[in-house]
Amino acid sequence: MQRGVGTEVQAHCRQPGEQQQRRPERFAAPLDGVETAAGALLGRAWAGVDTAPGAGLRASVGMSDIVLPGGASSGHSRGGVAASRSGHTDCGPAIRRVAGGVVRALCVRPGVKDSLSLVEMPEPPLEQGPVLVQGLSVGLCGTDVEIVSGAYGQAPPGHELLVLGHENLGRVSAAPSGCGLNPGDLVVGIVRRPDPVPCPACAAGEWDMCRNGRYTEHGIMGQDGFARERWRAQPDAVVTLDSSLERVGVLLEPTTIVAKAWEQIERIGARAFFDPHVAVVTGAGPVGLLAALLGVQRGLEVHVFDRVSDGPKPALVADLGAHYHSESLPDSGVQGDVLLECTGVPSVVLDTINCGALDAITCLTGVSTPGTNTPVDIGGVNRNEVLRNDVVFGSVNANRRHYQTAALALRQADQGWLGRLITRRVPLEDYQQAFARRDGDVKVVLELQGS
Ligand SMILES: [Zn+2]
Ligand SMILES: [Zn+2]
Repeated sequence: MQRGVGTEVQAHCRQPGEQQQRRPERFAAPLDGVETAAGALLGRAWAGVDTAPGAGLRASVGMSDIVLPGGASSGHSRGGVAASRSGHTDCGPAIRRVAGGVVRALCVRPGVKDSLSLVEMPEPPLEQGPVLVQGLSVGLCGTDVEIVSGAYGQAPPGHELLVLGHENLGRVSAAPSGCGLNPGDLVVGIVRRPDPVPCPACAAGEWDMCRNGRYTEHGIMGQDGFARERWRAQPDAVVTLDSSLERVGVLLEPTTIVAKAWEQIERIGARAFFDPHVAVVTGAGPVGLLAALLGVQRGLEVHVFDRVSDGPKPALVADLGAHYHSESLPDSGVQGDVLLECTGVPSVVLDTINCGALDAITCLTGVSTPGTNTPVDIGGVNRNEVLRNDVVFGSVNANRRHYQTAALALRQADQGWLGRLITRRVPLEDYQQAFARRDGDVKVVLELQGS
């Protein structure tokens, strides 16, 4: 899932520089369904901290020694685990833990600014699904930044913390026989899950078009995300990837966004004569670049617009066989038969709507920040839309069909080119570095294993 930015063209890879949180956090999600005795004991231990603030607490669990901090904050109504990682010198609490039974996870307290922290959690409970997945990597985007800022996000019901991470890649560790998945399979968890009713769209497998808004989204809304060492899922909640995509498969989820956009464009185009030649993409962030990739794969002449003239983006576009523009779309004179707006920047959105060819189809994928007053000649826009048979539509999220289309698109793409989109790979424990934006960042990925 992508949410846009409102401040610059490279909307889909916003990285915060300011949201830094060095102190380790206490895990306060429920321990319901915890499979380990250690977890249960830790739950009680944590409850003890709540009732005895100011006094450090030591609990002995089998081989492990757990030291919980004195003066722990209140509000942890459920059991939890204090966490500490090496490399963070101001980590107060320390854990020396038994092997197994805990999973490191990158969490936020939704609605609380700068609450990002690395937490040790109990193993994912079996009720979350029979497929056990070893997390390999998680990509970061503007949605994560928005959640870290406290502006967005929702923990699972009854939890205080939300595990972050929706752009994901993992490897199956265990799966029931006959479910179509085998240990070793490369998989991606589908981000959005159908609403519980379900509405007619969700019932038809099109949860990306949910009608009642009660859907959930891993790492975003009501479901823990994938920025953790292990997670569980139902067999139908993951898609398999070709084993050749291990280094770049984390790009699948953002690719699903544009796979859906292109599908919708083609379905709309099928309403009448449709023979597009020129595609315009605004924004050369990961989503824009992947939109351009799918345009090139369709044999179109693709023009990508972004405000920067240096860094890796111009070469990435050129090496795709597309055209890079750092001037504005109106100044370029390019008229797209198909336009994909991937910035959410209001002025760019307006340019995109206004710069289509006759019968143009414009897909908006960037989520703007509301509150910007941009003068618009609605009469002029309406006149153009009507007289040119234009279509302007929005597209968000993706269903299983789009994940499968995206998986095929990645497999057919140049793996070296895809790898260049991932400009930084950061170990999980260095998450703060991952969230500190650097010049030249396109896609920053957290590596979940081997750190
Ligand atoms: Zn994303
Ligand atoms: Zn629904």
